[in-house]
Amino acid sequence: MSADYYEVLGVPRDATAEQIKKAYRKLAMKYHPDVAEEPDAADKFKEIGEAYEVLHDPNKRAMYDRGGNPLGGAGANFGGFGGFSGGGFDFTNLMDAMFGGATASRGPRSRVRPGQDALVELKLTLAEAAFGITKPLKTDTQVVCTRCNGAGTNSGTGPVTCSTCHGAGQVMTVQRSIIGDIRTSQPCPACRGYGTVIADPCGECAGEGRVRATRTINVKIPPGVASGNRVHLAHQGEAGPGGGPAGDLYVELSVQHHDVFTRNGDDLELVVEVPMTAAALGTTVSVQTLEAERDDLDPADGSVEVVIPPGTQSHTRIAVPGHGVPRLQRSGRGDLGVTFVVKTPTKLDESQRELLRQLAEVRQETQPEVAVSKQGKGVLGWLKEAFS
Ligand SMILES: [Zn+2]
Ligand SMILES: [Zn+2]
Repeated sequence: MSADYYEVLGVPRDATAEQIKKAYRKLAMKYHPDVAEEPDAADKFKEIGEAYEVLHDPNKRAMYDRGGNPLGGAGANFGGFGGFSGGGFDFTNLMDAMFGGATASRGPRSRVRPGQDALVELKLTLAEAAFGITKPLKTDTQVVCTRCNGAGTNSGTGPVTCSTCHGAGQVMTVQRSIIGDIRTSQPCPACRGYGTVIADPCGECAGEGRVRATRTINVKIPPGVASGNRVHLAHQGEAGPGGGPAGDLYVELSVQHHDVFTRNGDDLELVVEVPMTAAALGTTVSVQTLEAERDDLDPADGSVEVVIPPGTQSHTRIAVPGHGVPRLQRSGRGDLGVTFVVKTPTKLDESQRELLRQLAEVRQETQPEVAVSKQGKGVLGWLKEAFS
């Protein structure tokens, strides 16, 4: 052709391969006959294509620069994609950019597909989590349509081969252009890519073979579970389209706060207040256990005797083995940790005050030298040292 290829692409004579490619893409998109409105767009597009074919190929470009005609005539071998292959140029990307993409998938898609997994939360009390329970759980998922048993068709009818795509599920559109036929395959619009059509769909599920429904399933919770644990129920998730196998159901457990006990791993912790005198003299207290919340046990089994030795300090923790949470999927249980908080009496009458004064006298505790510094010295002793 007569036009200067460099001028056609609008690039300098020493343009790099990248510059040439860029310039071509830009112009090709502008002058593509399907998008361009200029009357001479087709000619222009052809010219751009020729210029690119020569300039992007180092051998042809060198020949052209020497004054030769690398195309051997008026674009003789410019009939189709041939001229573009092997040039390191991704034609598909260009077409995707131009026409919004045409992702090719092969063959019809199946009406029968596996369903998705589902995740639901189940709230448990601390006792339920500790001792295990079988609990009803309401789920709202896709289930197999009972009217058509998942087939999606009215009784007596079945899917028939799509007359648009003849069962392929894909339709090919061919766009004629100067650079050859552009074939784009798309899911068949008549059958949505299935290759078959349901002429008489089930009135319940509209041909999908599944419907949304609420159902109640019993979930068995093993003893010792904690918040965040998941119970896996195979094939209890979403039913698949067309009667496909159901996905799995995951039940995520959430253990509610308890007013008395806090849980630390397999241990249960609680705080018990004891009077000052009991802490000093020692005693035995009856402490509530989590068993008290079990219906299947005698109320007498819902407590445990804990010995407070004489001279117990406030915030002493006494571990009672075997009264914590059963270990998940193992034998044994954690401890019940009982922390005693010593209560100092507040409302004293005169006679009680007198008794305490006498006690203080006998014990020589009239000086408040009871607080202990980190070094193990009485605070008053420390002060004396500091000022001497
Ligand atoms: Zn079709
Ligand atoms: Zn149905």
